Amino acid sequence: MPDPQQRGERVYKGIAVSAGICHGKVMVLRRAPVEVPQYQVPEAELLAQVQRLQQALLETRQQILEVQRQVSQALNAKDASIFDAHLLVLEDPTLIESVTQLIQQKKINAEAAFHEFAEKYQATLRAINDPYLQERATDMRDVTSRILDNLMGRRPQHDQPPPTEPCILIAEDLPPSEVALLSRKNTLGFATDVGSRTSHSAIMARSLEIPAVVGLQSASQKIQNGDIALLDGYGGLVIVNPSEQTLFEYGKLTQRRVSMEDKLHELQFLPAVTLDGKEIVLSANIEQLGDLEAVRFHGAEGVGLFRTEYLFINRESPPTEEEQFQVYRQLAAALKPHPVIIRTLDLGGDKFLSHLKLPVEMNPFLGWRAIRFCLEEREIFRAQLRAILRAGTEQNVKLMYPMISGLGELEQANALLEEYKEELRKENIPFDPNLHAGAMIEIPSAALAADALARRCQFFSLGTNDLIQYSLAVDRLNEKIAHLYQPTHPAVVRLIKMTADAAHRAGIWCGLCGEMGSDPALTPLLLGLGLDELSTAPSLVPQVKALIRLLKMQDARKLADFALDCESGQEILARSQALARSAAPGLFADA
Ligand code: PEP
Ligand code: MG
Repeated sequence: MPDPQQRGERVYKGIAVSAGICHGKVMVLRRAPVEVPQYQVPEAELLAQVQRLQQALLETRQQILEVQRQVSQALNAKDASIFDAHLLVLEDPTLIESVTQLIQQKKINAEAAFHEFAEKYQATLRAINDPYLQERATDMRDVTSRILDNLMGRRPQHDQPPPTEPCILIAEDLPPSEVALLSRKNTLGFATDVGSRTSHSAIMARSLEIPAVVGLQSASQKIQNGDIALLDGYGGLVIVNPSEQTLFEYGKLTQRRVSMEDKLHELQFLPAVTLDGKEIVLSANIEQLGDLEAVRFHGAEGVGLFRTEYLFINRESPPTEEEQFQVYRQLAAALKPHPVIIRTLDLGGDKFLSHLKLPVEMNPFLGWRAIRFCLEEREIFRAQLRAILRAGTEQNVKLMYPMISGLGELEQANALLEEYKEELRKENIPFDPNLHAGAMIEIPSAALAADALARRCQFFSLGTNDLIQYSLAVDRLNEKIAHLYQPTHPAVVRLIKMTADAAHRAGIWCGLCGEMGSDPALTPLLLGLGLDELSTAPSLVPQVKALIRLLKMQDARKLADFALDCESGQEILARSQALARSAAPGLFADA
C-alpha cells in the first residue's frame, strides 16, 4: 500500500498476527535482570555443564552475528561494527576458563557459575575510570544476558513499569505471561522481534483483540521510545513517522474494515451451516474468563478450547480447586446451553509457571509438559479435574487432555478422573458423572493411533499448532523457519483426515482448535476433511461463519479428495484459497 521510501517513513515488515490498525507513540520495552538458579551438580555431570556453557556461547555467537548481519544490511557496516565488541567478549579465553573452573570447583550448574563470573567481571570494568572500559562493561551486560537466556532456555523479561498512556509497545520478545497482563486501555498494539502466528503471545493478542505484528527481526533496537508509529496488524507492518498520505490511506482501510465487520455482525445469531445443510459447530478459543464477552459478541457457539494455563501464571501458588470451580462454573453458566471445553493444564513450551520451579530443559516442547506433568503432579491435576467435574453440574462442560501421545496417558488420565468422581461421590459433592472427556490430537503418534484412542474418549480436538510443529519438525516459535511451518503440508492434511475418519468410525465427533481453524482460506479444506467443529479466535468467528454459510460440502469434499492426492502443500493451499475466495469474495477484499 504506501510507498514508504518516498515519504521519509521507516517501514519494518514482520508477520501479521492480530488484526487491527493503530497509530500513536511508541514505548520500547527493555530487558530486566534475570534471576539465576543455583544448584549442586554431581561430579559425573560436571562435564555436561561445561558443554552447556559451550553450547550457549555458540548460540549467542550465532545470534550476535545474525544481528550484525541485519544491522549492516539495514544501516551500514560502521553501525554493525559495534557488535565486534560483543563478539570479543564471547571469545575471551578468560571467560571460558574461569567459568569452567567455577563449575568444577564449586560443583554448580553452568548458569550459576557464569552469572557469578559475569557479575565480578562487570564490576571490575565499571570500577576503572576509563570510558572505553566502561563501554565494554555495557557490551558485557548485553552479551551476558543473552548467554544467560540461552543457558536457561528462556526468553527475555522486561523491566519497565506498564505504560500510563495509550502507546504501541515494541520489544524483542513479549512472553505470553506478559501479554496476558497488558492493559487494553494503554496498549494500542504491540510488535516484537521474534515470534510466529502460533506462538502463545500471538494467540493471546488475538483473544485480547490487540493489533500485533511479530517477527520484526531487530526492529526493537532501531525504534526509539517516543517515536510515532503506525502498526498494521493486517499487513504485518510497523511504520515509523507515517506521512499524512499513509495515515489517509490507512484511514480508508480502517473504514472498509469496520463496515465489513458491521455486516458480519449481522450473522451473530445465525448457525454455521453450509448451503447444502451441513451444520458445523463454530466455537471460540479463550484464555481467561474476561474473554467471555468476546465469545458472545462474535456469536460463537460456546468454547472449543479454554486454555487454563493463564489461571496458573503470574501468581505465587496454583489456584485452588474452589477457585477453579468458580471460574469454570461461571463460564459454563454464562454460555449455556453451548458447550464449554476446558483443557487441563498444558504448561510447557512457551508457557512457564514461575511458582512451579520447572527444570530448565534443552527441548521444552518435547519435555516434561502438559499431560506428562499433570500425571506426575497429582495434587495439581486432582484439584483441576475435581473443579471441572463439579462445574459439570451446569451440564454443558466437557474436558480435554492436551499432548496425548498414546493409549497409556489417556487411560491413566481417565482412571484418575474415575477416582476423583468416586471421591466426590463419597464426599456428597455434586458433579457430572457423565462428563465427556476428549483427547487433543496434536502429536503425530496420537493421529496414527487415533482408532484406539477414539474408543477411550468421547471426542477429539485437533491441536494443529503442535501437530504441524511435531510432524514437520518445525519449532512453532522460530521466525527463522516460519516459512517451513506449513499447515497444508500433505502430511498434515493426511493426519487430519486419519483423525477425523477414526473418530467417525468410533462414533465420536472430531473438532479442531489450532490456529488453522481461524484462517478462512483453509475453511473449505477443513470442512472437506470431515471436521464437525472448528474453534477459532473469538474475533474470527464471524468471518469463518460467513464463509461456511456460502460453501457447499460437495465442493469442499472434492477439494479434500484433491488435497489427499496432491504432493504439494502450496497447491493445496492455493486450491482451498481459491474456493474460499470464489464463494465469498467480499471477505478477502482488504489490505
Ligand atoms: C494446538 O496445539 O493446536 C493448540 C490448540 O494448543 P496450544 O496452541 O495451546 O498448544
Ligand atoms: Mg498444543
